[in-house]
Amino acid sequence: MRLNGFSACLLAICCVVTAYGQKPKQIVIAASTVFDGKGGVVHNTRIVIEGSKIVRIDPKAGPVDYDLRGLTVLPGWIDSHVHITWIFGPDGKSAGAGDTSKFAADAAAANAKVTLMAGFTTVQSVGSPNDLPLRDAIAKGTLPGPRILTSAEPLLGRGDQTGTPEEIRAFVRKQKEAGADLIKIFAAGSVRRPQMLLSQEQLNAACDEAAKLGLRSLVHAYKDAVGAAARAGCTQVEHGTLASDDDLKLLVQKGVWLDPQAGLVMENYLLNKDKFVGTPGFTEEAFQTIKEIIPSYHDFLKQALKVPGLKIVFGSDALAGSHGRNAEEFIDRVRDGGVDPMAAMVSANSLAAEAMRMGNQIGSIAPGLEADIIALDGDPLKDITSVRRVVFVMKGGVVYKNAGRRAIPR
Ligand SMILES: [Zn+2]
Repeated sequence: MRLNGFSACLLAICCVVTAYGQKPKQIVIAASTVFDGKGGVVHNTRIVIEGSKIVRIDPKAGPVDYDLRGLTVLPGWIDSHVHITWIFGPDGKSAGAGDTSKFAADAAAANAKVTLMAGFTTVQSVGSPNDLPLRDAIAKGTLPGPRILTSAEPLLGRGDQTGTPEEIRAFVRKQKEAGADLIKIFAAGSVRRPQMLLSQEQLNAACDEAAKLGLRSLVHAYKDAVGAAARAGCTQVEHGTLASDDDLKLLVQKGVWLDPQAGLVMENYLLNKDKFVGTPGFTEEAFQTIKEIIPSYHDFLKQALKVPGLKIVFGSDALAGSHGRNAEEFIDRVRDGGVDPMAAMVSANSLAAEAMRMGNQIGSIAPGLEADIIALDGDPLKDITSVRRVVFVMKGGVVYKNAGRRAIPR
């Protein structure tokens, strides 16, 4: 029998109804200790997942698919500052994040995979146009990796050469059209040369245009650029070292997030010195000062912690050599920066999600949120180095790592 258009249409509707009529398969995780991502701890419960989402927390749910009792279960971490496509090239030297070769694409995919396996289910890459195809391939399920948000091409401050405010606004619009999730702006040099690279007027234009497009603006800033970013209405300050207490209070007043670092990025340069020295921006002279710079990062974090109401998120600045080791930054923050271990966890869970305006999707273990769930072999509140022992990773309801206990047979 030949189906006419109407019958074919009815058949299609029937199939859809049947498919939706079936109850989706549930996954049940048993846990003895669950961090909810907001600072709370729940004991002896079960997390029920349907599709990509958590549907309920129910101690009586069963049968159990994954027995994570004895571990610390928490929401997948969110790293607010990575360079996911920054790689070492075929010659072993740092190749930045701009290489478009097949080698670079494969290396970036490997970066994404190790980052996910280390417990980071969402990262914000700040950024490179090469992030875009990687982001999309992971979102489609073609490659394993964290959910990626990217700035595409960052705005590099170059004084007057950066352009007029109108030209800067056009650059920001171009990133949005390219598919950027946020705008990254370099408003200052380095901690060694912290001078501003954009005028207040230029910075105002960049952050205002981003806001008009509904995009967040993340500003690489040191010293005076920190206050300037707050005055320009930017969303978040990256690094921030050398800012004054008044600059930090201004961040609070203006509701600007701060993403300082406590060591991993510098430790990684030292660990991989041969691979960085001689590449752009990495002179032998610069390396001599890195060791001296690390304590200033610790001091800055301690200074920031004393400012009431300052919202501090987790960002490791992971780049070539530190992808998959992002959690080392937790250890630095707690051990050397004086951060409370639970606050460190929350800074990479609900707080980071809130900073990304994604608090209703990720960063907590609660009904309705994405099932991004990890487990640590150990208690990070007692031993922060347990962040190195991620034994279970689920992202969007899909299990990518289960090196803990065996599931109880159904
Ligand atoms: Zn960075």
